[in-house]
Amino acid sequence: MARYTGSVCRLCRRENQKLFLKGDRCMTDKCAIERRGYPPGQHGQGRIKFSEYGLQLREKQKIKRIYGLMERQFRNLFGKADRAKGITGSNLLTMLERRLDNVAYRAGFGNSRSEARQLVRHGHFTINGKAVNVPSYLIGKGDVVEVHQTSKGVTRIAAALESVKRREIPQWIELDAAAQKVRIRDIPSRDDITAPMEERMVVELYSK
Ligand code: SF4
Repeated sequence: MARYTGSVCRLCRRENQKLFLKGDRCMTDKCAIERRGYPPGQHGQGRIKFSEYGLQLREKQKIKRIYGLMERQFRNLFGKADRAKGITGSNLLTMLERRLDNVAYRAGFGNSRSEARQLVRHGHFTINGKAVNVPSYLIGKGDVVEVHQTSKGVTRIAAALESVKRREIPQWIELDAAAQKVRIRDIPSRDDITAPMEERMVVELYSK
């Protein structure tokens, strides 16, 4: 599958805000936004005036990058959100939150979504006792996501769980850090997603 292999800090600089793609480093003064808080490229420090389309495009790119999806995956998920009952934009964000890689990150099994995704791909998790290695798997209410029995000693996971104490676990996730497992109390709602995202602009963009 295609994936972005360039500098992830460049993506934050492009969006002119921290997208928290590198785990602990994002909290330090080594963060590229702290040091060079302007878009990359020759005209990065010039005045940029976006059209309405440009603003919608940037918002879509930002959300896509936060969750680490490529265009086709994001577009497919948008189609699913559009076909589901309810408000398309809210459906899209809650589906992004329900992805297994995001749940593993939110629960603190990985320091970043990309690390959590790699852990999922390497088969370190089970859902309701069954091994699942598909990052796009959508978790449901009551599901139990657990570090696989044979992976309980993985130091990366233990280290990530240690550092998660510095960030907040969403209330829809019930973490048992000692057992390295979480139970999904409820499907996340739009109000549970506190990062600044204007999903309405994505809907407008894709509706053109
Ligand atoms: Fe973005 Fe983190 Fe890099 Fe800062 S350190 S620019 S927040 S990925």
